[in-house]
Amino acid sequence: MAERINGHTELVGLMAYPIRHSSSPAMQNEAFAKLGYDLAYLAFEIGADEIEDAVKAIRTLKMRGSNVSMPNKTIVGQYLDELSPAAELCGAVNTIVNKDGHLTGHITDGIGFMAALKDNNIDAIGKKMTIVGCGGAATAIEIQAALDGVAEMSIFNIKDGFFERGIETVKKINEKTDCRATLYDLADLDQLKKEMDESYLFVNATGAGMHPLEDVSVVPDKSFFRPELIVVDVPYSPLETKMRRMAKEVGCKTMNGLGMMLFQGSAAFELWTGTPMPIEHMKQILNISYDD
Ligand code: NAD
Repeated sequence: MAERINGHTELVGLMAYPIRHSSSPAMQNEAFAKLGYDLAYLAFEIGADEIEDAVKAIRTLKMRGSNVSMPNKTIVGQYLDELSPAAELCGAVNTIVNKDGHLTGHITDGIGFMAALKDNNIDAIGKKMTIVGCGGAATAIEIQAALDGVAEMSIFNIKDGFFERGIETVKKINEKTDCRATLYDLADLDQLKKEMDESYLFVNATGAGMHPLEDVSVVPDKSFFRPELIVVDVPYSPLETKMRRMAKEVGCKTMNGLGMMLFQGSAAFELWTGTPMPIEHMKQILNISYDD
């Protein structure tokens, strides 16, 4: 570190609360060092009542940029100068780029998801996908998949507070992209089976399968899967969810959520540096395997 930090080193931040558990500082600093960028990445505990001042500090300190996470993702946009089309449609920002005091907000979760698919030779462009979820991760994936050219999307969610957000997402996708999106109640299992049978790709983008919902699966049983269906989880702790265990038993190709996590970081890294992360090096260093 003494060799790395000098009078020219620029700062990249991560602004969220809580944030001390994050693996992003280790990941980003490893990639900066590996490619020789004179940048340092630090996490700051910033809550909703401090994010406006923190954004001012990005300009004042001439930081290269910042990541933002909860609770700031949906509120930081109003303090920025510009939003990417995906950030605008999602109503959320996870990456800020500072270009001579002009701050642009991006959302790289969906970019990361699509890049992880590509890295695993999964090509959903022009095809149909079924996805469960209307929360932050799901919305970013749905918007990016639609912008990238997924032809048809069936979205399912339980009838909780997120369902309304799903209605908005479907409206935006149908108005602003060439993708045709439809929202269904996850309780309609006949519809879920029908949409999954017609899909190339199935995605669980909910907290189901992840602590504290380890025992929950968005798909009730194995009969919903066929071997040709590609099945992707967004949760990654535990690495294997109940849902993906069933899909594997049927013979489906599957992917866990670590790919999205790695590639959303790489997309942010590329926005700050102009170069993607050294992906193979990062997979090795972080001991990441997601194509199982
Ligand atoms: P969120 O709180 O914004 O959304 C939660 C979603 O889960 C909603 O759609 C909600 O309806 C659904 N849900 C909650 N309980 C459910 C249940 N019992 N059955 C079915 N659906 C249920 O959360 P988020 O930020 O979108 O995160 C969702 C998951 O994605 C989490 O497991 C999170 O850790 C993971 N995640 C992964 C990455 C990655 O890089 N791989 C990135 C972000 C989030």
